[in-house]
This record gives sequence, structure tokens and C-alpha cells, in this order.
Amino acid sequence: MEIVEHGVEPRIVSCISCGKRNRVPATATGTPSCGACRAALPWIADADDRTFDAIADRSPLPVLVDLWAPWCIPCRLVGPALEQVARDLAGRVKLVKVNVDTAPGLHRRFAVQAVPTLLLMRDGKVIARQAGAAPSAVLRRWAEQGLATAA
Ligand SMILES: [Zn+2]
Repeated sequence: MEIVEHGVEPRIVSCISCGKRNRVPATATGTPSCGACRAALPWIADADDRTFDAIADRSPLPVLVDLWAPWCIPCRLVGPALEQVARDLAGRVKLVKVNVDTAPGLHRRFAVQAVPTLLLMRDGKVIARQAGAAPSAVLRRWAEQGLATAA
């Protein structure tokens, strides 16, 4: 796996299979996997107007985009629920979180009417969209259906 963009801090992610802590870059040409056991790692990154192209539009995996805002109460429930989905679907989807208050360009691009708005994207195109909070099991089913229909 090769890091293709610098300037974005890698996240420390614990492997679901063996517990090893791995550094996961926000952008890469392949799918992040555990340095110890090779299991796919959950891939979660923050993006803004400047970094969204590299982190989301050019992601090698389909992207689940969380358009959220710090003042939004339901967003505080959806954030952890989506991180659970990213763990459940490790190796199949990348979670990209966007604070729309600091990303006016993305706010316009996706015509965000309400937060949270969730997008499923592949190759820079939106393949599914949903607004509002939902439990992680519902979000996971929504994401899996989107991945299946767009394959
Ligand atoms: Zn591992």
C-alpha cells in the first residue's frame, strides 16, 4: 500500500481480528490491511473542500460520506453508527466524514438541505443518498444494498 497524498494525518486503527494498532493513511492506492495478520482494516478519514477529491472522489473503494455539523444533535448518533458500519464493512467501503460548516464547496456540490446527509459514492458519483439519523443496523443494510445494486 502506497501513500499518495501527504499532509493528512494518518489515523491509528485497531485491527478487528488481532487487535494490533495500525497507522491508516487518509489516501492510498490499495485497501488498508493489518501489518500483523493482513485482515482488512476499517478505513475512516476526515475530508474538506481541499482534500475531498483525493480522499473520496479518487478512493479505490466505494465511499460512505457523512455530511455532518458540530451543532447537529442527530449527527452525534450517526457518527458512531457509521463508524460501526465502517468496521462491519472493512475492506468494502471507506467512511469519509465532512463537517459541512467548514466545507462550503461540498455543501454546494451535494446541495445539502439537512444534516446529517449520507451519501454512497463510487468513482466520484453518488449512487445512494439518505438524510437523517438511523441506527447502525439500518445504515449498514442501506450501504450494503447500495453496494450491491451499483456493482
Ligand atoms: Zn490484525
